[in-house]
Amino acid sequence: MKVVVVVGGVGGAKFLLGVKQLLGLPPVGPGPDESPHQITAVVNTADDIWLHGLRVCPDLDTCMYTLGGGIDPDRGWGRAGETWAVKDELAAYGADPDWFGLGDKDIATHLVRTRMMRAGYELSDITAALCDRWKPGVRLLPMTDDRVETHVVIDEPGSGERKAVHFQEWWVRHHAEPRAQSIVPVGADEATPGPGVVEAISAADVVLLAPSNPVVSIGSVLAVPGMRVALRETEAPVVGVSPIIGDKPVRGMADACLSAIGLKSSAEAVGRHYGSRACSDKGILDGWLVHTGDTADVPGVAVRAVPLLMSDVDATAAMVKAAMELGGVDLG
Ligand code: GDP
Ligand code: CA
Repeated sequence: MKVVVVVGGVGGAKFLLGVKQLLGLPPVGPGPDESPHQITAVVNTADDIWLHGLRVCPDLDTCMYTLGGGIDPDRGWGRAGETWAVKDELAAYGADPDWFGLGDKDIATHLVRTRMMRAGYELSDITAALCDRWKPGVRLLPMTDDRVETHVVIDEPGSGERKAVHFQEWWVRHHAEPRAQSIVPVGADEATPGPGVVEAISAADVVLLAPSNPVVSIGSVLAVPGMRVALRETEAPVVGVSPIIGDKPVRGMADACLSAIGLKSSAEAVGRHYGSRACSDKGILDGWLVHTGDTADVPGVAVRAVPLLMSDVDATAAMVKAAMELGGVDLG
């Protein structure tokens, strides 16, 4: 079976573990050489940032480390067994920015990536090269090879000055506390989908939207021209999974992003925001999974409620199964 999953970082990576498990593949690692299944993840790259001269791709790396067995399980991002000597040395120099922690092991990834970029390779080639080491068992495709960076307009704490900052500065430095006046994936308008992305969506048996942040993860992917068209035109069912349970994101500050684009924090609001393929000009969904006890009326979309907590890989695999069944996929 060919499965395409649109993902961000931590939520997306966990969901992918469940996809692999459901298909009988080991959640972590490469799996068998011969498998009838192909999983492709279309990964958000609008969180990417230049730091200390290095290109950092948080969502790609979170997926790669999680699926490849290198992730720090407690933090959910970065490398297991990480040390922080470079960060301490940078701080001793007073080198800005000091609010984004790059661990020593992680830095090696960014060094390899940056060196390849400077040699002229595209992000998709570089990601494939990095994955030669990690063998995530999922094809990780950047949403685009073009530079797209989410910027957030805020009144800066302290100065009160209105300015646009990189998403990471708002999220990591300011903990999404200053109200976001707007959130814009800068560069998305001129971007094109990365190599293989549209082809994978067209050839898929099912397309799933992970319960990733609807604005800065899934929203950024959808902002790349051609992406919505591909999702609307594929013959595969497209099913989304809500990251909102009750009136809150399960983890993190996605509600601050939703309010910035004028949406309530609810499974129904997010489902309507993605919209129906059948009943709207821009919608992408055939099915929408919400958490047990939540309800959502999304015209033109089949809605089902099942447990949506990714508490372990089996629970996640059960969610993925429910999503596929909602899409009418024959699981044999
Ligand atoms: P990020 O890029 O690392 O922020 O991660 P993603 O965008 O992929 O995922 C973040 C989203 O995952 C948050 O909005 C959470 O609400 C959602 N999330 C995290 N854990 C769970 C879970 O167990 N169940 C569901 N339904 N959503 C979750
Ligand atoms: Ca992210």
